[in-house]
Amino acid sequence: MALVVQKYGGSSVADAAGIKRVAQRIVATRKAGNDVVVIVSAMGDTTDELLDLAQQVSPLPPGRELDMLLTAGERISMALLAMAIANLGHEARSFTGSQAGVITDSSHGKARIIDVTPGRIQEAVRAGQIAIVAGFQGVSQDTKDITTLGRGGSDTTAVALAAALAADVCEIYTDVDGIFTADPRIVAAARQIPRISYEEAMEMAACGAKILHLRCVEYARRFELPIHVRSSFSSREGTWVVSDPNTEGSEMEQPIISGVAHDRSEAKITVVGVPDKVGEAAAIFKTLAAAEINIDMIVQNISAAATGRTDISFTLPSADSTVAVTALKRIQEQIGFEKILFDDQIGKVSLVGAGMRSHPGVTAKFFGALADAGVNIEMISTSEIRISVIVGQDEVDAAVTAAHRAFDLDADQVEAVVYGGTGR
Ligand code: ASP
Ligand code: MG
Repeated sequence: MALVVQKYGGSSVADAAGIKRVAQRIVATRKAGNDVVVIVSAMGDTTDELLDLAQQVSPLPPGRELDMLLTAGERISMALLAMAIANLGHEARSFTGSQAGVITDSSHGKARIIDVTPGRIQEAVRAGQIAIVAGFQGVSQDTKDITTLGRGGSDTTAVALAAALAADVCEIYTDVDGIFTADPRIVAAARQIPRISYEEAMEMAACGAKILHLRCVEYARRFELPIHVRSSFSSREGTWVVSDPNTEGSEMEQPIISGVAHDRSEAKITVVGVPDKVGEAAAIFKTLAAAEINIDMIVQNISAAATGRTDISFTLPSADSTVAVTALKRIQEQIGFEKILFDDQIGKVSLVGAGMRSHPGVTAKFFGALADAGVNIEMISTSEIRISVIVGQDEVDAAVTAAHRAFDLDADQVEAVVYGGTGR
């Protein structure tokens, strides 16, 4: 008997019909002789709607209360799903993140899991019940307050629980048939990726591919837990995220490029006229770190000989830009830089593929494709298996499409079906 952990995303449980359909699927897995533990997200766009509601009563809601509010979304779906399963004649029990033993730090809105003690889940499974767990939430070890893991965090709940329960597989159910070479909403000819490595999936997630939460893949890699990303609307085989996609089951050599990811959620800040002295960059980034801002790309120009000053540009999540600008203004006099420029009309386009390690010319081909498409590159950053560029936000689609075509990723036939979701 295998232990299967299944996670259903918001679009899979968007309404009563969706919940009933998912219940059927869970029962079928159970009937096939497996123990089943299920993690659910909030129904449809519930989390966004709750956030909108919070905004209407307060422009800056306290983190503790916001988490209390948002976790309600997952509690609604877990209870409804347990009811739907009971209605099919099977025993199901729903558990909040806290009841399921998801212990986190106390950082509201972006809590990290520090321990999983799933005693009650194990008990339920032993008693032959199907355990349904609310995703995206836990309880702080110190404050005992309810926390959330950050948007899209149910994936991480699923993998963390699967690891703690030593599950055989973690299935992530979504509204497309797995991970694609690009967002099918932009590139209709995007191809499904049958197998991908943890490291490539991590780069894709970090570069804005919304299909899997970054921390979920990090977690899976740490525990070598295979993830199967698939659609809850079809019975097709999805994408397997594993340590080595080349091992058994695939005779074909992996392509050089796995996919093209994009992200429109970042903004760019330029600190203009920074005196070119030891310690200035350190002071700027120390200030940003103290404000808990995650920096992505950084570019520093060589200083103009005449002025002895330089410009430093960096990208960050748009949502953090007000905090960042405020923090920088506070040190403007101390550092003596001239001004701050802010631009949120940018987008990031990233080419990801383990094959670029051993194939020269990838960068040249990528930049050539962007040039042919008339796309101007504003910033560049690379890792061993990724090249990212910042472009104008309205050029993102053109850049993704051009890169996808240049690396022969276009499928001959349209493969991608988006079964649900509002793309919100
Ligand atoms: N409901 C949460 C969100 O929309 C968590 C999740 O879906 O994974 O971000
Ligand atoms: Mg959601």
